[in-house]
This record gives sequence, structure tokens and C-alpha cells, in this order.
Amino acid sequence: MDTYLAESFSTKVAGVFDVIVCGGGVAGLAAAVSAARLGSSVLLLEKSVNLGGLATNGLISYYEPICNGLGDKLMYGMASELFQLALAHGPDTLEDAWRSDPDHAETGKRYEAFYSPTIFTLALDRWLLSSGVKLLLDTLVVRPVMENTHCQGLVVEHKGGREYYQAKVVVDATGDADILYRAGVPCVAGSNFLTYISYLVDEKTINRAKNTGNLLDSRQWHTSGSDLWGKGHPADAPLLSGLTAEEVTEFVLSGRKLLTAECFAREKGTYDLSCLPSMAQLRTTRRLEGAYTLQETDQGRTFTDSMGIAVDFSKRGHVYELPYRILYRPGFDNLFTAGRSVSSSGWAWEVTRVIPVAIATGQAAGVAAALCCQSETSAPALEIKLVQEELVRSGVRLHNQN
Ligand SMILES: Cc1cc2nc3c(=O)[nH]c(=O)nc-3n(C[C@H](O)[C@H](O)[C@H](O)COP(=O)(O)OP(=O)(O)OC[C@H]3O[C@@H](n4cnc5c(N)ncnc54)[C@H](O)[C@@H]3O)c2cc1C
Repeated sequence: MDTYLAESFSTKVAGVFDVIVCGGGVAGLAAAVSAARLGSSVLLLEKSVNLGGLATNGLISYYEPICNGLGDKLMYGMASELFQLALAHGPDTLEDAWRSDPDHAETGKRYEAFYSPTIFTLALDRWLLSSGVKLLLDTLVVRPVMENTHCQGLVVEHKGGREYYQAKVVVDATGDADILYRAGVPCVAGSNFLTYISYLVDEKTINRAKNTGNLLDSRQWHTSGSDLWGKGHPADAPLLSGLTAEEVTEFVLSGRKLLTAECFAREKGTYDLSCLPSMAQLRTTRRLEGAYTLQETDQGRTFTDSMGIAVDFSKRGHVYELPYRILYRPGFDNLFTAGRSVSSSGWAWEVTRVIPVAIATGQAAGVAAALCCQSETSAPALEIKLVQEELVRSGVRLHNQN
């Protein structure tokens, strides 16, 4: 039987905000900035010291497409804004036909690109801070303080100790729905093939970069273990959800063990690893069971409460509208999620978790959170038309068929 240590102490109230966003991955950044742009006071809490989450710290430096694969750009708003930012200063692999950001391009290539995750990190600092969001790095959100199903605020742990921040609305952008789960919101666990992505440099990559003139070619995106579909997953390795410290540790160490064997079989001095990921590369850990769960069969469907479009990165012409209801759970008035923990299942979960779509749901959650504060309305009661008007004002395309 489990035994427990009873603890009792007082925690300092360190601040009061309209909106608190937990997690500074791309979804959390989009949520924080979009709420701040609507005049909310916003606090962003991030446990690492870099912004961007998997898209920077996780070395996942490939921005999946924002076009439908048939030549039409479909994802606008912050999904497009952050695409431009990711490519603004560093090297990239964008197809020339998309370089001027057209609505349509006559090319077989999709509107997608590799970018530099380190330079994207620098650009994100500036982008976030210019919006007026208060940022605390190296700050772990420990638990939501609940009064029944209402979240009053969040307890955090950082260098200064343990503190409490009060909020009108909370957005859980931890990627793992950790805050929702601890608040008692129904969630669903995922599972993951073993993957460890690092950047490898050797004579071949250096020569390739010399030939192409593109510095991104000077390193190879090196995958140890599995691809998205399980190819390369070791037969004896379990599928892990990554929801305990033991599982995260096993996932990271097992992946690194594969990489170590591959590297140490090579001759000393003939290669280097320019970067290792500083967070576990888990795709689907835990997600909300929301007011609606997006599924593969929703491909091509129109939703009257759409907040934006998600394009399928692997199937050309396949497009999903993103209903507002994937962001919250009825009964919980002031809790939203965004990014890879929104309410979607099966292949739709794969589509909604990638970088541009995580940003789209982040932007929608931030707008909804700000409007909930302004109108003192709960997430389920918020008039979706108001959210849609704001999103359209900031450039988002809501529907596949205009
Ligand atoms: C192996 C792999 C390959 C992928 N390939 C691609 C690809 O090629 N293209 C693509 O577009 N997408 C890809 N993805 C998906 C994509 O990278 C992520 O799903 C997306 O970046 C998720 O963004 P997010 O903001 O929702 O979550 P995350 O990036 O996970 O961000 C969550 C943030 O919250 C922080 N956090 C967590 N808990 C707490 C807490 N308690 N307190 C404070 N902070 C906290 C974390 O430190 C992190 O910064 C891939 C993912 C993986 C794992």
C-alpha cells in the first residue's frame, strides 16, 4: 500500500494575473501573446530556461506545412507569424516558391521548412517580451489550487522557493495536460515509440554544407530508434506514456543508449554531436478529454465553432477544422489547454500536436482566455462568435471553404 507524508505550510501569494499560461512551448507562447495583445495581464511560467519547448529544446526543428499540399496556404494568424519568425534570422530550407508568403504557389513542394532551433529560441525571447507578458523561467508549476472545479491559481517552485500566483483563467500548455490532470479534469494517456533525435556532424555533412551553401546541411538530424510509425522501435522496448519520472528517465536513457552504441562504433574524431535534446522527445503523453474530441473521421468536416484550420502533414488535401470545444472540459469554468494536449484522438491527435497546429490552438486558447476575463464568462459559456471575430481580426482563417 502507498504511504504518504502529510505536509502543511503557508505559501506566499506572489501575484495576481488575468491569465496564467503554464509552459512556454510554442502553444503556450501563442496563448500568452494573444491574451496579452487583447489587454490581459499575463504570466507565463516555464520550467526550463529556453522558450519553445520541443520546437527548440527538443530539437524538433521542422515546421510542418501550413499549406494543404495542393498549393494553397491555409494556416494564417500566429501559425504563419511564428513560421516567419522561425526562419527570420537563421538558415532554413523553405522552397523558393513560398518565400514571398503567397496564398497560392504553383509547386509540388509544401509550405514547410527546417530552421535553426537555437536561433529560433533567440527570436522567441524578443517576440514574447515585446508583448508585455511577464515571464518566469526555471519555474515549475507544481499544482493548481482548486475550489471545486474552479481554479483559483497555481503553486510554483523556483529559486525563490514555493510561491502562489492567483489567476482568473489558466491555460495548461505543458504539453502533457499536467495541470488539468492535477485539477481533476478527465484526461487520456498516450503511448510512445522509442525516439532520440540529435544533431550529428561529420565530414559528409560538412562537405554537403559546402556544396549547398546551407549551414543546416552541416549537421544531420539523426534519429536513434523509431520514426513516427514505429519503424526502428526496438523489439524489446515497451511503449511508454512518459507520465512518471521513471518512464521519462527510461525513455531518455534508452534512446541515449542507442545513440551511444551508434556513436561509439564510429572512429574517434570523425564525428561530433553538436546538440542533444534537453527535454524528452515524447509525442503523445496525456491529453484532455474535452467537450469534443476531434477524430480522423472529422477530416473535411465544417465546424460552426471552428477556431482555425489544421492541415494533415502527411496526406495532401486532408484538412481539419479545429472546434473550440477541444480546448476545455464542461464543468471546469476557467481552465483551457492548448498544443499537443488538446482533445483529439487517433490520427487527429498526430495532426493537432505538430508545431503549426499547436500554435493555432494556443492562439485560440489565449484569445478565449482573454475574452473570458473581459466578459467574466466561463469557458463553456463564452460566445464563440466573439472568439472567432478576434481570431479573424488577427488574420486567422477559420474554415477550409470560405
Ligand atoms: C520525436 C518528435 C518528432 C516530432 N516531429 C515534428 C516535426 O517534424 N514537425 C512538427 O511540426 N512537429 C513535430 N513534432 C511535434 C511538435 O514538436 C510538438 O508536439 C509541439 O512542438 C508541441 O508544442 P507544445 O507547446 O504543445 O508542447 P511542448 O513543446 O511540449 O511545450 C511544453 C512546455 O511546457 C513546459 N512545461 C511542462 N511542464 C511544466 C510545468 N509543470 N511547469 C512549467 N513548465 C512546464 C516544458 O518545459 C515545455 O517548454 C515532433 C515531436 C516529437 C516528440
